[in-house]
Amino acid sequence: MTIVTGVTVRVPAKLNLQLAVGPPRADGYHDLVTVFHAVSLFDEITAEPARRDGVSVSGEGADRVPADGDNLALRAVSALRAEVPSAPGVHITIAKRIPVAAGLAGGSGDAAAALVACNELWAGGFGAAQLAEIAARVGSDVAFALLGGTAVGRGRGEQLTPALAPATQYHWVLAFADGHLSTPEVYAALDRQRAREQVPAEPGLDPALMSALRSGDARLVGRALSNDLQPAALSLFPALRKTLAAGLELGALGALVSGSGPTCVFLAASADRALDLAASLSGAGVCRSVARASGPVPGAAIVSGASVTGPR
Ligand code: ATP
Repeated sequence: MTIVTGVTVRVPAKLNLQLAVGPPRADGYHDLVTVFHAVSLFDEITAEPARRDGVSVSGEGADRVPADGDNLALRAVSALRAEVPSAPGVHITIAKRIPVAAGLAGGSGDAAAALVACNELWAGGFGAAQLAEIAARVGSDVAFALLGGTAVGRGRGEQLTPALAPATQYHWVLAFADGHLSTPEVYAALDRQRAREQVPAEPGLDPALMSALRSGDARLVGRALSNDLQPAALSLFPALRKTLAAGLELGALGALVSGSGPTCVFLAASADRALDLAASLSGAGVCRSVARASGPVPGAAIVSGASVTGPR
């Protein structure tokens, strides 16, 4: 008899320590060079056998997440099923802690977690490279959510190279905004801003950031954080200027808008400084709420459950 239990996977949020954006391509996407960094703020997804595919969502921002085939986790299930045609139905339960449409790639993370969970549930046997290929078909940030750590992303962000760096843990404070930003709208605002100025043809990796990461010196990393989308995000959400300024005044080593925003992230010199900064920022009234997170952390990983085959 085979007893198939649910498989639970947890997946981290991502920050972009650098996000360099090229001009729009013919297909509407932008070529990127980015430095992804996975941090200890996790969604948890559970995959269980079911008659038909379905999804339910609870937790932070659940009411803003589609509970049908548009959910990125279910899109990932379909992409994996194309490779495992005999796979049965599955129900995905998502417990969200990563805020939605916050520039932290929570949806892509859930997709990556669904790939890992279903690969286990269906005994798909796909290795990391094969899963990464399927992930890239689902979305630009999905492959990084599988990998985790700190990695350079190129193309649309799906071509990944892990960054060689010492085992330094960085301490971050995340300021969640009272509002959301849509990624396509932020890119459109960037294109409008750039219509008035000269844009570099090819986005490039920042050597100062890479050397700061190799040194493991948080002070240098803080100084080298950069995001080409930040001016566009600020134009659509001007209150973020105040949030960034408050964090820097309170002693952050660096501050930036995460991805397409509106989450602002601050690097602190130590775990204790992060605790102080989080308390002061939440008292300053410049954001909806704050959280602390450290990074880098590993990508999507199974925390419990498996298929068990045993005697009847
Ligand atoms: P990006 O990956 O573009 O940086 P983001 O981090 O800003 O995106 P997400 O939380 O991934 O934002 O959500 C982007 C959109 O995707 C939301 O509008 C949401 O409705 C949709 N979405 C689909 N599936 C999910 C999911 N499982 N979790 C969160 N959002 C989802």
